[in-house]
Amino acid sequence: MWRQHPLRDSYDVVIVGAGVHGLSTAYYLAKQGVTDVAVLDKGYVGGGASARSTAIVRANYLTVEGIPFFRESLKLYESLALELDFNIMFNQTGRLDVGHAESTVYALRQRVELNKLLGVDSRLVGPEEIKELVPVIDLRQDKHLPVMAALYHPPAGTVRHDAVVWGYARGADGLGVEIHPFTGVTGVLRAGDRVTGVETAKGPVRAGTVVSATAGWSSIISGMAGVELPIVTYPLQAFVTEPLKPFMDKVISSGNLHVYIYQTDRGELVIGGPVDHYPTYSHRSTLNMLEELARFAVELVPSLRDVKVMRQWTGICDMTPDYAPIMGEVDGVRGFVLNAGWGTWGFKAAPIAGKSIAALVATGKTPDLIEPFGLFRFAEDRLVNERAAAIAAALH
Ligand SMILES: Cc1cc2nc3c(=O)[nH]c(=O)nc-3n(C[C@H](O)[C@H](O)[C@H](O)COP(=O)(O)OP(=O)(O)OC[C@H]3O[C@@H](n4cnc5c(N)ncnc54)[C@H](O)[C@@H]3O)c2cc1C
Repeated sequence: MWRQHPLRDSYDVVIVGAGVHGLSTAYYLAKQGVTDVAVLDKGYVGGGASARSTAIVRANYLTVEGIPFFRESLKLYESLALELDFNIMFNQTGRLDVGHAESTVYALRQRVELNKLLGVDSRLVGPEEIKELVPVIDLRQDKHLPVMAALYHPPAGTVRHDAVVWGYARGADGLGVEIHPFTGVTGVLRAGDRVTGVETAKGPVRAGTVVSATAGWSSIISGMAGVELPIVTYPLQAFVTEPLKPFMDKVISSGNLHVYIYQTDRGELVIGGPVDHYPTYSHRSTLNMLEELARFAVELVPSLRDVKVMRQWTGICDMTPDYAPIMGEVDGVRGFVLNAGWGTWGFKAAPIAGKSIAALVATGKTPDLIEPFGLFRFAEDRLVNERAAAIAAALH
């Protein structure tokens, strides 16, 4: 899939983090002709949040900055298998965000209208159509939180997370990029206002540009460069059930019940929700979260009550105050580029984020699409508030 190389002491670009973002950045950089690139990871390729992602892809966000950005990523996903000549198993069967309260339905309607204006296929559907799309949802109206309406987003779907990572890694390798797993970065080298490389367990590596694509570890790597980030790292858990015959081909999510559910090609149900209540770098899964998610899933789809749980896992997420990513150069620190703030929503963004950051590194110009997401926005009070499109389960 990708070759092994001895680590050299200098590259044009060093990317820290061989997750989906680091590898997609490397791939698009090489496509732009920048091939003297090393991707370094402290662990195995794609072993961070990318290995743990439930990999839902969608574009039905809320802001005028976020919607076009995620729309372009969705478009890239539609042709990614062809681009990488690798089956990423994009199952584009649609998603329903259900609302159980007047205020939620109001917020869903707002997203629908903005989505339509910005070219994203979304519409509000009522209980009758919900029943047709996902017959197993509990639509009884005499319960505590009845399903009132849903935002239906037909182009949403799921991808096979490992396949996307491996496809980008193989593609980047084929174009001349070096991938170095088990090569942890222990320091960032600086000369005045310029980052000049990284320190690793295998020795120092000089670089014209260092890109940090380290998601849950972003604050640590940025701290090594003397850059403070408004990111707090939280665990995010998910689990799968035993396989069942296919009965549900849509992703369903409830922002009021804090849960999302979809069925994989193997028949397992993938169930997840919001981040843990407390920030930590721990990857431990908890019974408490399993119980909570299972309870909410059964509330939405009561027929799941006797289904057995097979596996539960946890990854860590780099949460930003406005639930939007942080991309681009850092004022006052030349040669250091951030690809961070991916929280619980970053897998779907990897193609366009990688492509845009590659364009920035290759040309020195920040593409318009990612300009609003710079670190400067926190100092200038220009937040991109995606929180309403990311409340609890709708985070994904
Ligand atoms: C349970 C779960 C479900 C999710 N579901 C979805 C979803 O449905 N849709 C969606 O869009 N997103 C989802 N996400 C979020 C998404 O998975 C992440 O945002 C995305 O994978 C981040 O990719 P990345 O490449 O930036 O980070 P990662 O994949 O975490 O890669 C960062 C890499 O940096 C490496 N690293 C860290 N420190 C160092 C160091 N000092 N030196 C060298 N390397 C280092 C790590 O080893 C790691 O491999 C989910 C996340 C989790 C945990």
